[in-house]
Amino acid sequence: ALPLSNKPYWLRQKAAQGERFDYLKQQMGGLKLATVCEEAQCPNIGECWNGGAEGIGTATIMLLGDTCTRGCRFCAVNTSQAPPPPDPLEPEHTAQAVAGWGVGYVVLTSVDRDDLPDGGAEHFAATVRGIKAAAPSILVECLTPDFRGDLAAVRHLAASGLDVFAHNIETVDRLQRRVRDPRANYIQSMEVLAAAKGQAGVYTKSSIMLGLGETDDEIIDTMVDLRGVGVDILTLGQYLQPTPHHLPVTDYVTPEKFDYWRKYGEEVIGFRYVASGPLVRSSYRAGEFFTEAMIE
Ligand code: SF4
Ligand code: SF4
Repeated sequence: ALPLSNKPYWLRQKAAQGERFDYLKQQMGGLKLATVCEEAQCPNIGECWNGGAEGIGTATIMLLGDTCTRGCRFCAVNTSQAPPPPDPLEPEHTAQAVAGWGVGYVVLTSVDRDDLPDGGAEHFAATVRGIKAAAPSILVECLTPDFRGDLAAVRHLAASGLDVFAHNIETVDRLQRRVRDPRANYIQSMEVLAAAKGQAGVYTKSSIMLGLGETDDEIIDTMVDLRGVGVDILTLGQYLQPTPHHLPVTDYVTPEKFDYWRKYGEEVIGFRYVASGPLVRSSYRAGEFFTEAMIE
């Protein structure tokens, strides 16, 4: 018989789910809150929603619609130069739903909205303020676009009361043009992270996809540069080709190599923590890891 998949065995495992997952799923249905976790059928959903021993479950919510003004070659999201306008009630509705839901750590993310004057920064900020007003103990991470390098927009959002400002560098410097939309670039993303870190009390976070042809030296250079702009938290995961029209995978990095990078990032480079593994995504078990690493 033909193999079901030519992916290595470590990418074929199915995540176990749990009691808390069932509970949250039930709650979620009642609250009509659409999560990226469910819509993307993320294999980490059981681990993230359960939240480990600390019970700090993590869920990711997409703001500002499902249509992006950009077209990165690794991403399967819908693209349009004129997406529908944002729902002005979304920040309030999201805050109410999240507060009533019982998750400890929420990741708010969005497509790129280059059509909006501030790239959607105030829309994010209003959602953060709403969540913090309704449920101050919930930790909030914003995983943001680059706002076209508009550092005033970045600072506005960084000052909203969020706990973690995340922006993904995605890949090493040499592969930026090949992987990301031409409006994104390495320096601009580093500037966004530096500006966010300028806000007192904010932790910053970034992510690199592996398996796009980057060399080990280039991964190290990128880690050094991220730490150089003050990034606290790094995640590393395997790039997977979403459709045959997207960039091919150059190589499958082994779990052992991911583990090597985790140690390297924490012990040699000095990140507060590194999550690294084939199925790790930017928000993977973020609440649990953040709580362990930051709030001893
Ligand atoms: Fe949700 Fe992110 Fe965890 Fe996947 S990795 S289940 S999208 S929080
Ligand atoms: Fe996908 Fe983000 Fe690129 Fe838009 S900007 S295409 S959402 S990776």
